[in-house]
Parts: sequence; structure tokens; C-alpha cells
Amino acid sequence: MEIYADNGATTRLSSAALDAMLPFLKDDFGNPSSIHSFGIKAADAISRARRTVACRLGAREDEIYFNSGGSESITQAITSAAEYGAEHGKRHIITTSIEHHAVLNTMERLGRSGFEITVLPVGTDGTVDPDSVRDAIRDDTALVSVMFANNEIGTFQPVREIGRICRERGVLFHTDAVQATGHVPVNAGDIGADYISASAHKFHGPKGAGILFARREAPVSEIIFGGPQERGARAGTENVPAVVGAAAALEEACDTMDENFRYVTSLREKLIDGLLEIPGTILNGSRQKRLPGNVNVSFPGISGESLAILLDLKGIKVSTGSACNSVSTEPSYVLTAIGRSVDEALGSLRITLDETNTDEDADQIIRAVREAVIKLR
Ligand SMILES: *Cc1c(COP(=O)(O)O)cnc(C)c1O
Repeated sequence: MEIYADNGATTRLSSAALDAMLPFLKDDFGNPSSIHSFGIKAADAISRARRTVACRLGAREDEIYFNSGGSESITQAITSAAEYGAEHGKRHIITTSIEHHAVLNTMERLGRSGFEITVLPVGTDGTVDPDSVRDAIRDDTALVSVMFANNEIGTFQPVREIGRICRERGVLFHTDAVQATGHVPVNAGDIGADYISASAHKFHGPKGAGILFARREAPVSEIIFGGPQERGARAGTENVPAVVGAAAALEEACDTMDENFRYVTSLREKLIDGLLEIPGTILNGSRQKRLPGNVNVSFPGISGESLAILLDLKGIKVSTGSACNSVSTEPSYVLTAIGRSVDEALGSLRITLDETNTDEDADQIIRAVREAVIKLR
């Protein structure tokens, strides 16, 4: 029996998304730019998908851009704001120490081309203090980028408050909502963000399908040069099946959100309670302010990697630290940023549940982790 509990890395494609995509992978293969009926059918599908996504994110249709994934959305949002800032003499950007690498590496690149990057620390539960954002804003600040929810420890950031501060100060605000979208309400008007990044494969859509919300007034510069697709912001023939699949997945995720949130949260609580009964277990991140399916625990003195491998042998798929770091044995920078020691960080396990996991899965995971911990000690 296989138990998939690595939904923070990626999720299973939903039947709704697959069914919506299939025609466009097969018979309806037209290029949306073509003038004949095949082209019109593909272009209509993209328009419909854009309307759906805009509606679900509380945005207008011309504020939604489709692209290749969360990393591209993030890169485009940050570089658009940076370019616009530089044109107006603003070369300062604010972010936090626990952002995804897509954010941190874009910042690093901008840092090398003359931008000054302020990286704000987070507290022991992984939350950034909105006052520290307010205090860091300067006259030459071009952008604030703070994630909606962290991919490793699940902690929610006070994005509404930060959005309000940025609006008051006239500073552009981007939030990486890749982990949150489809799982908790992500509404553009509500957050008051100028840019929101999302990715379909984190909410049961296809991989390689990203969504960028950019407020009508926010600058958007081209990320790929060529044709006029995506209103000139992102050239290249559209990936029609991916766009259609992303919209179908988001629609289903939003329709079932309340129910899934309640169920997955209760499963998470059961799992956390069970794991905390293993002597020495530490919970990473906030107990309350976290993504419904996120569990991140440390077993000091034990290799999280060895734990994950032992669990895999028992059919349980989880990750250690962050999936992006699975090739290296460096401690997670997110865990060290919230004050974990190297030893504690190296002994971490991330278990990310979804609505298809069962009570029995949680019991089995607790049992398997307990056995593996005893074995490795
Ligand atoms: C997965 C993820 C990304 C990257 O999204 P891709 O679609 O894989 O490029 C960015 N930010 C966060 C928080 C993520 O979880």
C-alpha cells in the first residue's frame, strides 16, 4: 500500500483537470492565434480559463497571465517591479529569509545588478513582523515580496497587513501564493497585492502551468520575447491543455475548499498529536497558523533523509526539509531561520497531506515513523 504524503512537492492531477485537458491534447489541437475554427476553439478555451481563474482569485480577466509555473510567475513579478523601480530611481527591495528559492535567487540576481536587498528575519514560528516591513520601507523601495504560506513549515504570513502597509506607502507588493492557492482563500482584492504567483501542480492541476495575477496598474515587463501572446507579456504559443487544466483544477479546489480545509486540518492535528508522542519530537512552525496539510517535525540526532528513505521502503512518500534540497544534505535554511540547530534541521521530516489521505494513513504514518525513529536511534 502506497501512501502519498508529499503534496507540498506536487499533487496528483485531478480527474476534473485531466478530463478538461484531454480534448486539447488530442483533437482540439489548434493554435489559439490561428484564424480558422480550430484556432478559435483553442482561443475560446483560453478565454474561458482566464475568466474562471480571474473569478476565483477575485481579479479581472486582463489581470491574469498564464505561464510555465510558479517560478516563472515569481521571476516575472519581481523583475517587472524591479525594472519599473530602476526607471524611477528605486533600487531597494524587501523580502524575508524563508522565501522559496525562486524568490531568493531572483533577488540575488538583482543584487548583483545593483539592487539593494533587505532580507527580513522571521520569528520562531516562521512569521515576519509587519512592523519590520514598515520600518524597512524607504523612499527608494521598489518592491516588497513576502510569501503567503511557506512551503516547508506551512506558516501563513500576515499578507493582508503587509499589503495594507505597502499600499499606504505606495510600494509594490508581491506575494508567492503557490502553496496557498486552491487550499485557502486567495483573493486579490482582499490581500491588496499588486502581484500574486500561483502554480497549478500544487492544487491538483498539471505541472508546467503557472498563473500570475498583476493588478491592472502594476507594471508587467516581457519575460519571453516574440509574439503578442498574453498581451505581449509572455510570447510563445500557449500551452492550451495546461491552461485549461489549471482552470479546471482551481475551480474544483475552490468549490471543495471549505470541506477539504476542515477535513485535512483535522487529519493534520491527529498526525501532529501522534508524532509529538514520540519522545524528543519537535514541531516546526506555528501550530495554528499553518497550511491545512502541512506537518513538519524534527527528530534531533536522527538523519531526516534516512527517515524518509525508511518510510519510502514502507510505501510512505514524504520529504525531508524541502524537496528542492533533496540532492544535498545541507540543513534547510528555513529551519535554521526559525532558530533550529543544524542537528535539529537535519533531522526534519515534512509530511504534507491532502483530502485523499485517510485516518488510517495517519495511523500508519505515526506507526512507521515511530518504528523508524527507534531503529535509527
Ligand atoms: C512549488 C513552489 C514554487 C515553484 O513553483 P513551480 O511551479 O514548481 O515553478 C514557488 N514557491 C513556492 C512556495 C512553492 O511551493
